[in-house]
Amino acid sequence: MKKKIVVLTGAGISAESGIATFRDSNGLWENHDIMDVATPEGWRKDRELVLEFYNQRRKQAKNVEPNAGHLALVELEKHYEVTIVTQNIDNLHEKAGSTNVIHLHGELFKSQSTVDSSLVYEMEDWELKLGDKCEKGSQLRPFVVWFGEAVPKMEEAILVASKADIFIVVGTSLLVYPAAGLMDYTPLGIPKYVVDPNLPSTSPDPNLTLIEEKASTGMQKILEALIP
Ligand code: NAD
Repeated sequence: MKKKIVVLTGAGISAESGIATFRDSNGLWENHDIMDVATPEGWRKDRELVLEFYNQRRKQAKNVEPNAGHLALVELEKHYEVTIVTQNIDNLHEKAGSTNVIHLHGELFKSQSTVDSSLVYEMEDWELKLGDKCEKGSQLRPFVVWFGEAVPKMEEAILVASKADIFIVVGTSLLVYPAAGLMDYTPLGIPKYVVDPNLPSTSPDPNLTLIEEKASTGMQKILEALIP
């Protein structure tokens, strides 16, 4: 039976594909205050601005390709049972070919009803407009978990993390909870790795290997360590 690897990824794994992280740009996300574009309050204040913000993210994501960091995770699947738990809303893990991805914070290329959160739709194109409605007649919103909203996939992610044989963290500042706490649910004593050019703070742990590099080169080191 293959060993289980669980990988927590954040905005940093997509940085080398050309998608900006937000902690690296002074807490602004593509020049927007996150309170305006990634909170329920922002949505109530100006739905048009929020729709346009995610339209631009979708337009951009359509034109970028996965990088060596994403591809290394696909390579790992040949030798391990890999589950990726991503905070990213882009689809670069899927585009690279990873088959088992849990999107904690939603998916850019899906829309969601504003009266019934179970109604989620694939988006054919990049644009979601005021007046686009769900089957129950309410305005569609981006299928994104905003700050202050519940993270429905967290339970599934915790279950997966609790059964990991190896845990890898790539490109996240580990500042956004509950995702940042996922490492705490892994079994005691398993090998853990953190890849990030600006390492986030973690508790001291003899089983934790810190790799202070970008996702592309850092993940290459992990492949060398984990694939015979
Ligand atoms: P973050 O912006 O808080 O942190 C990014 C981390 O990536 C930092 O620690 C930084 O040092 C690291 N980093 C920068 N370049 C890197 C590289 N080349 N390789 C590896 N690491 C690199 O991101 P976060 O922790 O994911 O939290 C931000 C939240 O914003 C997430 O919840 C996410 O939903 C959202 N977000 C998503 C995207 C996306 O989907 N691509 C982009 C920006 C923000």
